[in-house]
Parts: sequence; C-alpha cells; structure tokens
Amino acid sequence: MPYDVSMREETRALVGATNLFILILVLFAVTLKWLALGTLSPRWPGLLVILVCLANAAFLWKGGETRQSAWLLIATLVFGLTSSGYFSGGLSGPVALVAPLIPVVAILLVGTRAGWICLGLVIIILSVFLVLGSTGKLPEDPNNALGLLFGRFLAVVFTGLVATWIAWRFGFNNERLAYTDHLTGIANRRAFETRLASEISRANRSDTWLTLMIADVDLFKQYNDTYGHIAGDLALVSVAKALSLAVTRPPDLVGRFGGEEFIAVLPDTNTAGGLCVANRMRHILNKQKFSGVARLSISIGIVTCRGSQIESAEALIHLADTALYRAKEAGRDQAIGLTIDHATVEPLRPLSAFASI
Ligand code: GH3
Ligand code: MG
Ligand code: MG
Repeated sequence: MPYDVSMREETRALVGATNLFILILVLFAVTLKWLALGTLSPRWPGLLVILVCLANAAFLWKGGETRQSAWLLIATLVFGLTSSGYFSGGLSGPVALVAPLIPVVAILLVGTRAGWICLGLVIIILSVFLVLGSTGKLPEDPNNALGLLFGRFLAVVFTGLVATWIAWRFGFNNERLAYTDHLTGIANRRAFETRLASEISRANRSDTWLTLMIADVDLFKQYNDTYGHIAGDLALVSVAKALSLAVTRPPDLVGRFGGEEFIAVLPDTNTAGGLCVANRMRHILNKQKFSGVARLSISIGIVTCRGSQIESAEALIHLADTALYRAKEAGRDQAIGLTIDHATVEPLRPLSAFASI
C-alpha cells in the first residue's frame, strides 16, 4: 500500500539521518577531547562508535533492513553511554547527553515498547555508575567533581523520563491524527487500508469468511446543493455515526473511504451476517432526521468471500464497488451482495432480503 511504503521510506531516512548525526557528534567530541586532554582521555570508545556508525551507514546504503539498522544504532548509543560513563567518572560528560537520547531514538525509530525498555536499561546502567562512582570504583577523570554524582544521576534520569514521555505523547497524537477522518472522527482511508490488509491475511490463513461493504449516500450532491455544504458536512457526521452504531463486534471497522462514501470490513462474517449489518445500517439511518428532508438513504455494495479466495484488497474493493454500482442502477436505497465461495463465484444478484428493511 502506498501509505506503508512512504512510512517505511520515511523511517529509513530518519534512521540514516540519526546515524549520520551521531557520527558527526562523536567525531566532534573525540577531536575536542583529544585537543583538550591529549592522552589523558582514552579515544578507542569514540573511535569504535565512529567505525560502527560508518558500518551502519554502509549497511543501510546496501539495502539492509531499517529495523536492524535502528537496533544497531541503539546498541551503539548504549555502548557509548557505558564507555563514556566508565571513563568520565560516572555521570558527567557525554553521559548526560547520550542517556536521554537512547529511549527517544528507540521510541521514534523502533516503537513505544522499545522506547520504554531502553529507558529502563538506561536507568539500570546509570544506577550502576552511581554505585561504582560513589564507592570510588571508577577511574579518575580530571574533569569530574566527585560529590555531584547523585545530583547528576537525578538530573539525567529526570531528563530521560521527560524526553521519553514527550516523544511517546507526540508519537501517540500523531498516530491518532494520521488514522482518523478529520470530519467524521471515524477511521480514515489509511487506517482502513491498514486494517483491511491484516484482516485479509488473517482470513487467508484461517480460510474464514470476510465481508467488505461500501456504502454511498444517495443523491448527496442534490442535498449539498439544496442545504449547503455545512449542512452536508453535518449530515456526513450523522451517517458515519449511524454506520458505526450498526457494527457491534470488536474486530469490525467502519471508515470513511472518501467524499460521501463509507467502507466497512467485517471479519469472520458470512453472507447472512453481512446482510444483517447492511440492513441495520440502513435501518438506523432511516430513523435519522436531516435538515429539511425526512431522510437520507444509502446504497450498499457487499462482497463476502472465503479467505482462500481473496486475491487482494484492491480486488475485493473492486467487487464491492461493482455491487454498489448495481445497487445504484437498481434504484438506490438498497444493498446488493456478491458471495464468493471457493471455486463457485455466484453471479452478482440483488438479494431480496438485502433490498428490504
Ligand atoms: P449517487 O446517488 O449516484 O451517489 O449521487 P450523488 O449525488 O451522491 O453522487 P455524486 O458522486 O454525483 O456526488 C457526490 C457529492 O458528495 C459531491 C459533493 O457535493 C458531495 N461531497 C463529497 N464529499 C463531501 C464532503 O466532505 N462534504 C460535503 N458537504 N459534501 C461532500
Ligand atoms: Mg459517490
Ligand atoms: Mg452518492
């Protein structure tokens, strides 16, 4: 699906950019430290981080998997945290910068769970340094002022917590906005396509029934022309509510396909189930009053398919669309279904029970 492809490319670019950013940062830090402290400070950890970042860049360049590259980056940062903590007396120097960065990078590049796990790991590493530093078990660092260890520990842990929380909320909000239709508040096309793909593969594996329906508001252009666009928008919100009320099972999903078209996927639902839901949708909508007119009606195209018979999401949508077209042709305000059962593809036919409510 185009959405998934663009998301994958964006994440890949983000991993590459973060790797480059860390490479430049460490190069800069190693050079500065070398100029300031000469041989007093070991350079091999920084050089190792630079080498791994270069290898990671080459890995991505050669088409390596984004997720593996992101984990390698996180592992490099954890190594950077541990080595710089060890060589800078615990919690000073680069540790304060690297520690909060690790969970944030994990949340943004891998996912929420990875972010919180990395935060836990960082706090454990920092606690070890707190204990080692306060008992004098770390090498002396010329820049390190002992006694400030506990204060630094709290500051770094607190910054890490806040940074992780912000990244988590930010990602959460973005995801909610990206998957919600702005006008009606139900699932948008992106959310629907993502869900449909996973329901198709589930139905494929278990060879269970899957029902897909497309509902289109009848003569909506006329409604808009008569009552205005704002009234039209409000009517679409009511239609979305009515359709959502009609589906009751947790795995069912109703979304806005675009304009005045809505779409629903009903996993594990056969023809009779699809019929029942379509009738309920029309029935609920029938009872609603819209500005100035008694009611708005919808036409519904339904396709019910055995999991093993589904070729692709596009093919399924095309079949539902064809059924919808027939419902429009047959006079609107009705549902027309198509059932595909193993090798037998029943011809498109109006089912009488579908047409009456
Ligand atoms: P049919 O019964 O054949 O579906 O007729 P129709 O008038 O519903 O279909 P048509 O495709 O000719 O027009 C669809 C109209 O839906 C066009 C536009 O005025 C309206 N529409 C699409 N999206 C929106 C929207 O977001 N808000 C409002 N108010 N109207 C919309
Ligand atoms: Mg339409
Ligand atoms: Mg229409």
